[in-house]
This record gives sequence, structure tokens and C-alpha cells, in this order.
Amino acid sequence: MGQTAIGVDIGGTHVRAARVSNSGQILASVRAPSSADPQQVLATTIDLIGQLMVDGIAGIGVGVPGRVDGSTGTVFSGGYVDLSKLPFAQLLREATGQFVVLENDCSMALLGEAAFGAGQGKQNLVMLTIGTGIGGAALDHGHLLRGRSTAGQFGHVVVAPDGLLCACGRRGCVETLSSGTAFGRHVCEAGLPPGTNADDLLERRNRGDAQAAAVLTAWAGPLRRAIDGLVATLDPDLVLLGGGMGGRAVAALAGIPAENCWYQSPIVAAQLGDDAGVVGAARCAMDRFAARGCKRAVLVNGVPASGKSRWRMPCRRRPDGRS
Ligand SMILES: [Zn+2]
Repeated sequence: MGQTAIGVDIGGTHVRAARVSNSGQILASVRAPSSADPQQVLATTIDLIGQLMVDGIAGIGVGVPGRVDGSTGTVFSGGYVDLSKLPFAQLLREATGQFVVLENDCSMALLGEAAFGAGQGKQNLVMLTIGTGIGGAALDHGHLLRGRSTAGQFGHVVVAPDGLLCACGRRGCVETLSSGTAFGRHVCEAGLPPGTNADDLLERRNRGDAQAAAVLTAWAGPLRRAIDGLVATLDPDLVLLGGGMGGRAVAALAGIPAENCWYQSPIVAAQLGDDAGVVGAARCAMDRFAARGCKRAVLVNGVPASGKSRWRMPCRRRPDGRS
């Protein structure tokens, strides 16, 4: 009991799920197309879990895009996949009869990298996932940084106050300038062919091409400013860049000279690739199941009704009345 768990990573393109051992080994994995319909995502998730289910798993961990209160499993907002209108964790518990934990998808990826990837042995980590948008999460002395509930939305660090309007309501968030989506816009604005990718530009920059260097700086320069602010604020051992363009972002930053200042942390590429989310989600489920004394406790609003867990947090009501 407690030696395996099922991790689920809900993305905009695919829902991935894997049964994972306590050493981070993927024992079986499945995936299916995602959907903008939350009910369809729930049905897909239940189906994938059913394909992986065996006796004796510790539980199910699920990484969800958007703002998530991991202490209660409440989803406040999302993007293309927005599960905030469903009591997703509760419905999953009822459908599977299993212990279920929900966290933001980048938080799950960070837990995976911390346990088995680029963050092994480090207690203080900052992670940004560079994809369609920019996700974020931080580990503080081995624990996810939560703030009131949804800390770590690093894609919404403002780096250009007069910049483009962001989905969050502010202007000039780093997500509007340094995401994969923004990369395509920088390429277009430079007059380069639409299919030009980051690898092309990195190679051209290495050969001294000024236009390629300018596009990479327009893309990764704002990311450097956001990371500089996070390093001064959080003083991490490492900054990990993951997601589909994390490795390219590390390479792009390597060609942009860093300022000489007090606040420095190494910036490295995540190592687990697309597996980080499912591996981290499974690890999260195993750890929290063990911390609860391996009891399948009664859950009230997603929080154990009894027993103590070091992850258990007070359930705070938000100013807008949502809990
Ligand atoms: Zn924003």
C-alpha cells in the first residue's frame, strides 16, 4: 500500500495519466485529447484513471491549469481548460472512491522535478513553465509556497507596465512577452517566416546573426527581468524552466548578458519533460496519503474531516465569496 499512485496532468491539448512508483518510475501511461468542456475533461480523466487502476494505489494526484487552492482542491480560474465551474476533486473522489489531491499543473511539475529531476536535493526552487502561457510554482524549504491560496502565478509578474493587456486584467505580464505564444508574435513582428522556431534562431545567433539575437532578446529579455525579481524575492537554490519551450528559454537567456547584482540563482532546464506533471502529481498523492497516516479519511469540502496533515491549511474564504 502506498507504493504507487496515479498522476494526471490536464493540459489544453491532452489529458495524460500514469501509474507511477515511489521511485518515480512510470509503470503505465495513457492519454487522450483534452477539451474546453469541463464535463468532457472529467469524463476523460475518469476513463484514463480506470485504465490504470489497480488494487492498493495510494491515491490520485491531478495537475490542473489555472489558479488552484491545493489545500482544498478548489479551482478558481483556468484558461482554455477551465474547471472552476465544477467541484472537480469531489466528483473525482465520488467516481473513483480514491484519495484525490488537486494542485496547479506547474506545482505538480515542480514536485516531480524536485523529487526526480533537475531539482533533486534542493529545498528552495522556483519553476516557470514556458508554453502557451507561463505557469509558475515555488518550493520553500521543501513545501509548495501557497500565500493565501494561489501563490506562484509567476506568468503574471508585470515587466512592461504599458504593455499588452493580459487575460488576468493587467498589462505587460511576462506571459504576454515571453510565452510560446508571444514567441510567435515576436517572429511575426520581425518579418520572419511564421514557421521560424527557437532552435533556428538560436543557431543563427550562434553564427552572429543580429536579427536572430534581437528576436531572442525581445522574447527572453522580459523573462530575465521577471526571474531577477523572483530571485530577489525568493532566493531559490535554482530557477527551473520547463514546459514545451523551457530548454530553449534557458538557451536564449544564456546569450543575454546578466547584470552584475546581489541577487543571483542558476537558471537550468527542467529534466522530466512532458512526464514532470504526471510523475509529480503521483508523488504528491503518495506523500499526502502517507502524511495522513494512510487512512481513507472522510473529506469535507475536500479537506480531511479529522487527522492532521502538514499540508492541511486553513480554508479561507476569498473576498469575492468563493471558497
Ligand atoms: Zn497577467
